[in-house]
Amino acid sequence: MTTPTDDELLALCEKASPGPWHACQDGKCSCKAVWTDDYPVAKVESGEWGDFYPALRVKENEHGLHWTSVALEAFMDGIPYGEIHEETARANVQFIAASREAIPRLIAERDEARVQFAEERRRHQEGLDGMVRSWNSSRAELALAMSEISRLSTGWDKTQRQLAKARAIAGELARFIRELPTFWPRGEPPFGESHSSLDCAYRAIRPDVRKWLEGK
Ligand SMILES: [Zn+2]
Repeated sequence: MTTPTDDELLALCEKASPGPWHACQDGKCSCKAVWTDDYPVAKVESGEWGDFYPALRVKENEHGLHWTSVALEAFMDGIPYGEIHEETARANVQFIAASREAIPRLIAERDEARVQFAEERRRHQEGLDGMVRSWNSSRAELALAMSEISRLSTGWDKTQRQLAKARAIAGELARFIRELPTFWPRGEPPFGESHSSLDCAYRAIRPDVRKWLEGK
């Protein structure tokens, strides 16, 4: 016989006499019987076991000094094969009695544990999914921040270049203004006389600054 499945075990429990079952005197009674509340369901082997059968034997009864009678007596004859220890037999009675209610209880407990485990696993999975989601969104935010930094940095470089250019222009203009009087040695503006000194000064301005002044 193969080991029954849980469903088969439960079906057996369903069909068997209803529990609880108990061992007669906790298995200590020589009857070694397992009982429901109303009737016996099993008798467990104990002591000598083998092929035993009822047989008859002649028995002489001594009635007095000279008179004997002969009678047939029934007895159990047979061949013993072995012996079941009292302690083992008692445990067997108790085991059969206890299993009636223990089996469905254990299966129910195991089913409940499975449900709990599945629920636990589902919650862990949810937690894990949440962590992955939050990690992904953090990563996306980080990428966004990085691109923002890169954009700002590019803007900063551009600003720096423009600032450097503006400084150069300002420096050049300052120099132009500072040196302007040197083109009028007599210290007076060359109105009417000539604009050539001013033209010279203008041409002395750095070409890139001049371009900027001319809007090119
Ligand atoms: Zn008994």
